[in-house]
Amino acid sequence: MKLDPASFQQVSLAGWGNYPRIECALAHPRYIDELPGLLDRTHSLIARGNGRSYGDAALSPDLAVATRYLNRIRGFDREAGLMTCEAGVLLDDLLELLVPQGWFVPVVPGTAQVSLGGMAAADVHGKNHHIDGAFGRHVHSMKMLLGNGQVIDCSRQEHPELFSATLGGMGLTGIILELTVRLAPIESAWVRQTTQPAGNLDEVMALFEASADQPLSVAWLDCLAAGKARGRSLLFCGQVAQTAQLPKRYQARPHQIPARSRSWSIPPWTPGGLLNRWSVSAFNRLYYGRHRMGGATRTLPYRDYYFPLDGLADWNRLYGRRGLIQHQCVLPPEASREGLGEILSRTSRAGQGSMLAVLKKFGPGAGPLSFPMPGYTLALDFPVNTETLRLSRELDAIVRAHQGRIYLAKDAASDALTVQSGYPELPAFAQVRAAYHAERFQSALSRRLELT
Ligand SMILES: Cc1cc2nc3c(=O)[nH]c(=O)nc-3n(C[C@H](O)[C@H](O)[C@H](O)COP(=O)(O)OP(=O)(O)OC[C@H]3O[C@@H](n4cnc5c(N)ncnc54)[C@H](O)[C@@H]3O)c2cc1C
Repeated sequence: MKLDPASFQQVSLAGWGNYPRIECALAHPRYIDELPGLLDRTHSLIARGNGRSYGDAALSPDLAVATRYLNRIRGFDREAGLMTCEAGVLLDDLLELLVPQGWFVPVVPGTAQVSLGGMAAADVHGKNHHIDGAFGRHVHSMKMLLGNGQVIDCSRQEHPELFSATLGGMGLTGIILELTVRLAPIESAWVRQTTQPAGNLDEVMALFEASADQPLSVAWLDCLAAGKARGRSLLFCGQVAQTAQLPKRYQARPHQIPARSRSWSIPPWTPGGLLNRWSVSAFNRLYYGRHRMGGATRTLPYRDYYFPLDGLADWNRLYGRRGLIQHQCVLPPEASREGLGEILSRTSRAGQGSMLAVLKKFGPGAGPLSFPMPGYTLALDFPVNTETLRLSRELDAIVRAHQGRIYLAKDAASDALTVQSGYPELPAFAQVRAAYHAERFQSALSRRLELT
């Protein structure tokens, strides 16, 4: 049966981690002016972009409002570098349009399969946070639907408190309908990457400090390495490649989008036990060993540098039907060495290998619920089971003890205590929600963490 896209479907919905999964109603409006009418038909609602948050941020106990059809580009002012689009536009689609014209979105996360609305609502960070801040810093203005049905514009000048709370506010202040974003010109569609190995956590942090002027930096960690090798890692620094650094055949067309070097996909029947201590440990040793000689410099298509995981479609299926959780925290600079060391030791002792362990350095923070703050952020993926859910709570306790915070866009397992201790501006956030009639914007995450 063909469904009227504006009507509600009853669906079983999950985030990227496939945990938790809940039953809820889902609406697929085609036009922005259908949205105010949805408010009268539900007790509570939450916007849903492309469902790339890991946990329950885009899940609703009542109604999730998908923005996938709200994907029109409204305009591009080349002089000012300002692009206006609807919130459901996918980053991947946008870059396909922009890159050949010599423009890029100044901050992008580790996947291009996200909506612009989702990027703003999570105030996503990229590999350049230490220099360019989070995505919200480059948002010029937003058009929003409030809980009383009103549509208003907000920016740093107009309703600045709503603007600031919405960037990182996880959809809890209203629905972003349109955004205007300041783009960055680029010399080419390629990134020049240098790889440096580090024998342990101290070494990789020293490398980050020494590479502070590098525009892009991220480290992959072998989280099962213990003892003197705890935190053994590879630091990948990058910058947009100059034309002369491109492969010869691209030098006349530096903005032409190069093909991905390879792309694979994971079948739906992948058994859950595939990622275990032994397979992860073997992978980590091989991966580290391959890059250990260091200094390797390569010029990569932008997708291979910024979005390496997108080359492995549906990689979340590797974790089996029960899904995965990601624990991502940031700790202040003075607590990072000790706190991250404890997190790595605890994880290694638990024997719960995380294939994806990523370390980045952050610069200054932004709005009340925006995740980044100065310090180091570590993200660890785990298959969902009783032990990893318990481990995640133990890691939360280490985060609290070191005045850190967890990332709501990744979270599926934390608690109100951890969020309250990590986000001291929560009372100010609640005030903005009250002032802008946002009580009805609720998600499974906001209820679990007592944010609404
Ligand atoms: C492989 C992978 C790598 C990632 N790497 C990074 C990274 O490097 N850095 C980083 O910061 N994040 C990263 N993420 C997380 C991801 O960028 C965020 O979760 C992002 O919010 C997902 O966008 P989405 O469109 O899928 O939003 P969804 O997951 O659908 O929603 C996320 C949140 O945004 C809200 N939202 C969505 N659209 C709107 C709207 N129009 N109005 C108001 N609220 C809205 C939802 O209510 C929800 O709270 C990664 C995720 C994956 C799967």
